[in-house]
Amino acid sequence: MDFTIKTYKSLLQILMEKKYLFLSFQEYIQKKYSIQNSNLSFVILRHDVDRLPQNALRMAQLEAQMNIKSTYFFRVINKTFKPNIIKKIAELGHEIGYHYENLSTVSKQIKNKKYKTNHNNKYINKLFEYALEDFKMKLKELRKFYPVKTISMHGSPLSKYDNRDLWKKYDYKNEEIIGEPYFDVDFNNILYITDASREWNNENINKRDKVNNKFKFTFNHTNDIILGLRKNILPDKIMINIHPEFWANNTVEWYRIFLYRKIRNTIKKIFLKYTNN
Ligand SMILES: [Zn+2]
Repeated sequence: MDFTIKTYKSLLQILMEKKYLFLSFQEYIQKKYSIQNSNLSFVILRHDVDRLPQNALRMAQLEAQMNIKSTYFFRVINKTFKPNIIKKIAELGHEIGYHYENLSTVSKQIKNKKYKTNHNNKYINKLFEYALEDFKMKLKELRKFYPVKTISMHGSPLSKYDNRDLWKKYDYKNEEIIGEPYFDVDFNNILYITDASREWNNENINKRDKVNNKFKFTFNHTNDIILGLRKNILPDKIMINIHPEFWANNTVEWYRIFLYRKIRNTIKKIFLKYTNN
Protein backbone atom coordinates (compact mmCIF):
# COMPACT_ATOMS: atom_id res chain seq x y z
CA MET A 1 0.00 0.00 0.00
CA ASP A 2 1.57 3.27 -1.18
CA PHE A 3 0.88 6.78 0.15
CA THR A 4 0.88 5.83 3.81
CA ILE A 5 2.49 7.82 6.60
CA LYS A 6 4.86 4.89 7.06
CA THR A 7 6.04 5.14 3.44
CA TYR A 8 6.41 8.89 3.83
CA LYS A 9 8.61 8.33 6.85
CA SER A 10 10.80 5.92 4.83
CA LEU A 11 11.17 8.57 2.13
CA LEU A 12 12.31 11.15 4.70
CA GLN A 13 14.65 8.61 6.30
CA ILE A 14 16.48 7.76 3.08
CA LEU A 15 16.89 11.48 2.31
CA MET A 16 18.45 11.90 5.75
CA GLU A 17 20.67 8.85 5.31
CA LYS A 18 21.90 10.24 1.99
CA LYS A 19 22.76 13.51 3.74
CA TYR A 20 20.34 15.77 1.92
CA LEU A 21 19.96 19.05 3.75
CA PHE A 22 16.27 19.85 4.30
CA LEU A 23 15.28 23.39 3.41
CA SER A 24 12.00 25.24 3.70
CA PHE A 25 11.19 27.20 0.57
CA GLN A 26 11.99 30.49 2.28
CA GLU A 27 15.41 29.19 3.34
CA TYR A 28 16.10 28.08 -0.21
CA ILE A 29 15.21 31.51 -1.64
CA GLN A 30 17.40 33.26 0.92
CA LYS A 31 20.40 31.01 0.25
CA LYS A 32 19.73 30.41 -3.43
CA TYR A 33 22.74 32.16 -4.94
CA SER A 34 25.26 30.56 -2.63
CA ILE A 35 23.89 27.01 -2.86
CA GLN A 36 22.32 26.47 -6.27
CA ASN A 37 25.62 25.79 -8.01
CA SER A 38 27.40 24.28 -5.01
CA ASN A 39 28.13 20.62 -4.33
CA LEU A 40 25.63 20.62 -1.51
CA SER A 41 22.86 18.00 -1.59
CA PHE A 42 19.57 19.52 -0.56
CA VAL A 43 15.86 18.90 -0.71
CA ILE A 44 13.29 21.66 -0.59
CA LEU A 45 10.35 20.01 1.11
CA ARG A 46 7.05 21.67 0.41
CA HIS A 47 3.39 20.90 0.99
CA ASP A 48 0.42 22.35 -0.85
CA VAL A 49 -2.46 22.10 1.61
CA ASP A 50 -5.54 21.91 -0.60
CA ARG A 51 -7.87 20.27 1.93
CA LEU A 52 -7.84 18.17 5.14
CA PRO A 53 -5.60 20.52 7.15
CA GLN A 54 -5.48 18.00 10.02
CA ASN A 55 -3.49 15.69 7.72
CA ALA A 56 -1.02 18.53 7.29
CA LEU A 57 -0.65 18.84 11.06
CA ARG A 58 0.01 15.11 11.34
CA MET A 59 2.74 15.33 8.73
CA ALA A 60 4.20 18.44 10.35
CA GLN A 61 4.42 16.58 13.67
CA LEU A 62 6.21 13.62 12.06
CA GLU A 63 8.72 15.93 10.38
CA ALA A 64 9.32 17.83 13.61
CA GLN A 65 10.03 14.56 15.43
CA MET A 66 12.66 13.88 12.77
CA ASN A 67 14.09 17.38 13.10
CA ILE A 68 12.98 18.34 9.60
CA LYS A 69 11.67 21.74 8.56
CA SER A 70 9.42 22.23 5.55
CA THR A 71 6.93 24.68 4.06
CA TYR A 72 3.15 24.38 4.28
CA PHE A 73 1.33 26.43 1.65
CA PHE A 74 -2.27 26.94 2.82
CA ARG A 75 -5.29 27.78 0.69
CA VAL A 76 -7.40 30.49 2.30
CA ILE A 77 -10.80 28.85 1.92
CA ASN A 78 -13.13 27.75 4.73
CA LYS A 79 -12.35 24.03 4.73
CA THR A 80 -8.58 24.55 4.71
CA PHE A 81 -7.88 27.81 6.52
CA LYS A 82 -7.87 26.68 10.14
CA PRO A 83 -5.91 29.17 12.28
CA ASN A 84 -5.39 26.74 15.16
CA ILE A 85 -3.80 24.17 12.87
CA ILE A 86 -1.71 26.82 11.12
CA LYS A 87 -0.45 28.12 14.47
CA LYS A 88 0.47 24.62 15.62
CA ILE A 89 2.38 23.86 12.43
CA ALA A 90 4.28 27.14 12.73
CA GLU A 91 5.09 26.39 16.38
CA LEU A 92 6.68 23.13 15.26
CA GLY A 93 9.19 25.26 13.35
CA HIS A 94 7.80 24.95 9.83
CA GLU A 95 7.29 27.76 7.37
CA ILE A 96 3.75 28.82 6.39
CA GLY A 97 3.10 30.08 2.86
CA TYR A 98 0.04 31.07 0.87
CA HIS A 99 -1.41 28.68 -1.74
CA TYR A 100 -3.15 31.25 -3.92
CA GLU A 101 -5.98 30.85 -6.42
CA ASN A 102 -7.34 34.36 -6.83
CA LEU A 103 -7.92 34.52 -10.58
CA SER A 104 -9.96 31.32 -10.61
CA THR A 105 -11.90 32.28 -7.47
CA VAL A 106 -12.71 35.79 -8.60
CA SER A 107 -13.63 34.66 -12.13
CA LYS A 108 -16.37 32.53 -10.59
CA GLN A 109 -17.60 35.42 -8.47
CA ILE A 110 -17.92 38.00 -11.23
CA LYS A 111 -19.06 35.62 -13.93
CA ASN A 112 -22.19 36.76 -15.71
CA LYS A 113 -22.10 40.15 -14.06
CA LYS A 114 -22.12 43.37 -16.04
CA TYR A 115 -18.42 43.25 -16.97
CA LYS A 116 -18.87 40.09 -18.97
CA THR A 117 -21.08 41.66 -21.61
CA ASN A 118 -19.45 42.92 -24.80
CA HIS A 119 -16.51 44.56 -23.09
CA ASN A 120 -14.06 41.72 -22.93
CA ASN A 121 -11.02 43.86 -22.18
CA LYS A 122 -12.87 45.69 -19.51
CA TYR A 123 -13.89 42.38 -17.98
CA ILE A 124 -10.31 41.08 -17.98
CA ASN A 125 -9.01 44.29 -16.41
CA LYS A 126 -11.61 44.11 -13.66
CA LEU A 127 -10.91 40.42 -13.13
CA PHE A 128 -7.21 41.08 -12.57
CA GLU A 129 -7.89 44.08 -10.38
CA TYR A 130 -10.29 42.12 -8.14
CA ALA A 131 -7.98 39.12 -8.11
CA LEU A 132 -5.12 41.24 -6.78
CA GLU A 133 -7.43 42.67 -4.12
CA ASP A 134 -8.46 39.13 -3.21
CA PHE A 135 -4.79 38.09 -3.03
CA LYS A 136 -3.90 40.97 -0.71
CA MET A 137 -6.91 40.36 1.51
CA LYS A 138 -6.21 36.65 1.93
CA LEU A 139 -2.50 37.17 2.43
CA LYS A 140 -3.39 39.62 5.21
CA GLU A 141 -5.65 36.98 6.81
CA LEU A 142 -2.83 34.45 6.80
CA ARG A 143 -0.30 36.99 8.06
CA LYS A 144 -2.35 37.36 11.25
CA PHE A 145 -0.87 34.00 12.18
CA TYR A 146 2.49 33.90 10.42
CA PRO A 147 4.75 36.42 8.63
CA VAL A 148 4.21 34.84 5.20
CA LYS A 149 7.05 35.44 2.74
CA THR A 150 6.41 32.82 0.03
CA ILE A 151 3.50 31.68 -2.14
CA SER A 152 2.64 28.82 -4.50
CA MET A 153 -0.16 28.63 -7.03
CA HIS A 154 -3.11 26.29 -6.70
CA GLY A 155 -3.60 24.51 -10.03
CA SER A 156 -7.42 24.95 -10.21
CA PRO A 157 -7.60 22.34 -13.03
CA LEU A 158 -11.26 22.97 -13.69
CA SER A 159 -10.82 26.70 -14.25
CA LYS A 160 -9.78 28.21 -17.54
CA TYR A 161 -7.67 30.71 -15.62
CA ASP A 162 -4.09 29.92 -14.69
CA ASN A 163 -3.58 31.56 -11.31
CA ARG A 164 0.04 32.39 -12.14
CA ASP A 165 -1.15 34.79 -14.84
CA LEU A 166 -1.85 37.33 -12.12
CA TRP A 167 1.92 37.95 -12.14
CA LYS A 168 1.91 38.86 -15.82
CA LYS A 169 0.25 42.07 -14.75
CA TYR A 170 1.39 42.53 -11.15
CA ASP A 171 4.47 41.72 -9.09
CA TYR A 172 4.23 39.68 -5.88
CA LYS A 173 7.45 41.31 -4.68
CA ASN A 174 5.38 44.47 -4.09
CA GLU A 175 3.47 42.46 -1.49
CA GLU A 176 6.68 41.54 0.35
CA ILE A 177 6.72 38.05 -1.12
CA ILE A 178 10.21 36.76 -1.85
CA GLY A 179 9.47 33.61 -3.78
CA GLU A 180 7.02 31.55 -5.87
CA PRO A 181 8.33 28.10 -6.92
CA TYR A 182 7.21 28.34 -10.56
CA PHE A 183 9.06 31.62 -11.03
CA ASP A 184 11.98 31.42 -8.63
CA VAL A 185 13.35 27.90 -9.05
CA ASP A 186 15.50 26.67 -11.92
CA PHE A 187 13.97 23.26 -12.53
CA ASN A 188 16.81 22.23 -14.84
CA ASN A 189 19.02 22.40 -11.81
CA ILE A 190 16.55 21.02 -9.29
CA LEU A 191 14.50 17.85 -9.85
CA TYR A 192 10.80 18.49 -9.20
CA ILE A 193 8.78 15.62 -7.79
CA THR A 194 5.08 15.97 -6.97
CA ASP A 195 2.37 13.60 -5.76
CA ALA A 196 -0.43 15.73 -7.27
CA SER A 197 -3.49 13.53 -7.84
CA ARG A 198 -1.83 10.81 -5.73
CA GLU A 199 0.34 9.75 -8.62
CA TRP A 200 3.98 10.79 -9.03
CA ASN A 201 4.47 13.45 -11.70
CA ASN A 202 1.38 12.37 -13.60
CA GLU A 203 1.10 15.01 -16.29
CA ASN A 204 -2.04 13.56 -17.84
CA ILE A 205 -4.15 14.55 -14.88
CA ASN A 206 -1.97 17.25 -13.62
CA LYS A 207 -2.77 20.16 -15.89
CA ARG A 208 -0.66 22.94 -14.37
CA ASP A 209 1.51 21.60 -11.58
CA LYS A 210 4.37 20.52 -13.82
CA VAL A 211 7.66 21.98 -14.98
CA ASN A 212 9.78 21.82 -18.11
CA ASN A 213 13.12 20.24 -17.39
CA LYS A 214 15.87 17.99 -18.65
CA PHE A 215 15.28 15.21 -16.10
CA LYS A 216 13.69 11.99 -17.29
CA PHE A 217 12.64 9.99 -14.26
CA THR A 218 9.49 7.93 -14.00
CA PHE A 219 8.21 7.01 -10.58
CA ASN A 220 5.25 4.68 -10.34
CA HIS A 221 5.52 4.25 -6.61
CA THR A 222 7.10 6.10 -3.74
CA ASN A 223 9.43 3.12 -3.44
CA ASP A 224 10.86 3.95 -6.90
CA ILE A 225 11.99 7.29 -5.46
CA ILE A 226 13.38 5.60 -2.36
CA LEU A 227 15.24 3.07 -4.53
CA GLY A 228 16.61 5.83 -6.78
CA LEU A 229 17.95 7.60 -3.71
CA ARG A 230 19.41 4.39 -2.32
CA LYS A 231 21.22 3.73 -5.61
CA ASN A 232 22.42 7.35 -5.80
CA ILE A 233 20.89 7.89 -9.24
CA LEU A 234 18.78 10.93 -8.32
CA PRO A 235 20.16 14.48 -8.57
CA ASP A 236 21.63 16.08 -5.46
CA LYS A 237 19.13 18.95 -5.63
CA ILE A 238 15.45 18.13 -5.34
CA MET A 239 12.14 19.83 -4.62
CA ILE A 240 9.42 17.52 -3.34
CA ASN A 241 5.84 18.72 -3.25
CA ILE A 242 3.71 16.52 -1.01
CA HIS A 243 -0.05 17.01 -0.57
CA PRO A 244 -0.82 15.79 2.98
CA GLU A 245 -4.43 14.97 2.00
CA PHE A 246 -3.30 11.92 0.00
CA TRP A 247 -1.32 10.18 2.76
CA ALA A 248 -3.18 7.81 5.07
CA ASN A 249 -2.54 6.52 8.54
CA ASN A 250 -4.66 3.35 8.28
CA THR A 251 -6.45 1.13 5.76
CA VAL A 252 -9.91 2.71 6.12
CA GLU A 253 -8.47 6.17 5.57
CA TRP A 254 -6.42 4.89 2.64
CA TYR A 255 -9.51 3.60 0.81
CA ARG A 256 -11.47 6.75 1.57
CA ILE A 257 -8.76 8.81 -0.14
CA PHE A 258 -8.52 6.23 -2.92
CA LEU A 259 -12.23 6.58 -3.76
CA TYR A 260 -12.15 10.36 -3.52
CA ARG A 261 -9.20 10.51 -5.93
CA LYS A 262 -10.75 8.03 -8.32
CA ILE A 263 -13.90 10.08 -8.68
CA ARG A 264 -12.03 13.37 -8.88
CA ASN A 265 -9.43 12.13 -11.36
CA THR A 266 -12.16 10.76 -13.63
CA ILE A 267 -13.89 14.15 -13.63
CA LYS A 268 -10.58 15.90 -14.33
CA LYS A 269 -9.65 13.51 -17.17
CA ILE A 270 -13.00 14.00 -18.90
CA PHE A 271 -12.81 17.76 -18.38
CA LEU A 272 -9.24 18.03 -19.69
CA LYS A 273 -10.04 15.85 -22.69
CA TYR A 274 -12.78 18.25 -23.77
CA THR A 275 -10.97 21.47 -22.96
CA ASN A 276 -7.54 20.63 -24.39
CA ASN A 277 -8.82 20.10 -27.91
ZN1 LIG B 1 -3.32 23.06 -4.80
